[in-house]
Amino acid sequence: MPQEPLKPIGSEAIAPFTYPDTLLRAQRRDGPEGLDIALFGMPYDGGTIARDGARHGPGQMRQMSINIRGCNMATGAAPFADCRIADIGDAPVNSFDHEQSVDTMTAFCKEIADAGAWPLAAGGDHLITLPVLRGTVDSSDPVGLVHFDAHPDTHDAIFGTKLNHATPFRRAIEEGLVDPKRHVMIGLRGTTRETDAALDWAHEQGITMIDADMFFDLGAKATAEKAREVVGGGPVYVTLDIDGVDPADMPGTGSPEPGGMRMRDMQVILRGLRGLDIVGGDVNEVSPPLDPTGYTALNAAHLMFEILCLMGENRVAREL
Ligand code: MN
Ligand code: MN
Repeated sequence: MPQEPLKPIGSEAIAPFTYPDTLLRAQRRDGPEGLDIALFGMPYDGGTIARDGARHGPGQMRQMSINIRGCNMATGAAPFADCRIADIGDAPVNSFDHEQSVDTMTAFCKEIADAGAWPLAAGGDHLITLPVLRGTVDSSDPVGLVHFDAHPDTHDAIFGTKLNHATPFRRAIEEGLVDPKRHVMIGLRGTTRETDAALDWAHEQGITMIDADMFFDLGAKATAEKAREVVGGGPVYVTLDIDGVDPADMPGTGSPEPGGMRMRDMQVILRGLRGLDIVGGDVNEVSPPLDPTGYTALNAAHLMFEILCLMGENRVAREL
């Protein structure tokens, strides 16, 4: 590493509630320069079809990060000891201008890539993954995707608009940013219409789908193993729509679907991805107005930390 790692806030003998809230207790920086991994918010929910509020997700995830202490007891990962990680704030958005917001979020993420840092975002609705991929992935080197979700998000358009939280992976694959043969969806479930064009299209592209029934047959460790086989050895992005998790653990989200994986399952799957070439990620669809207790945001922040551990270990492995 060219510079000293940045310790998380509160790593000294300081009460954790005496500092401004940041994602995962990272230090605050004004930009991505000199960082290995940039944490940031994408406070945009203009892509939501039904119940909104995810624009407030990054704020509540910061509040509920207060007890994250920087080291992973289960894996021994210590990303803040190995890497320069900071919260660089929120991407600029204009809640009255949809197209402009996608463009300004994309430009914000491009600055992260141009600085040589890897992105780890807190949404926002799931549309936010598209500007992260547009800003940080080159179509000459598409990423594999580990995609946790109850829904495939591969519709072509909803109400005639092509940019919303049901379409990001249709766009990302069309634009060559994601390799569908290295795309695995985990946690699909719920109801569909009589014909489901989004699922049909995803099948045609060769996307691997581990639906909730398959997950409960396989178990968490075998699910991680299957995901590893699909994404293989190239660069991988982890996108975690929290509605992939059961609403018992993630009640505060716009499109909850009963009968999903629990927090413990998610921790085991994510830890089972260690060693993959994970270069970016996001946790999205936390809607604080739908869960003012903060329990959803707490769980989301802890899963974001699991992804940070994977990225930190990979960043070190890449530079060895
Ligand atoms: Mn979903
Ligand atoms: Mn989604």
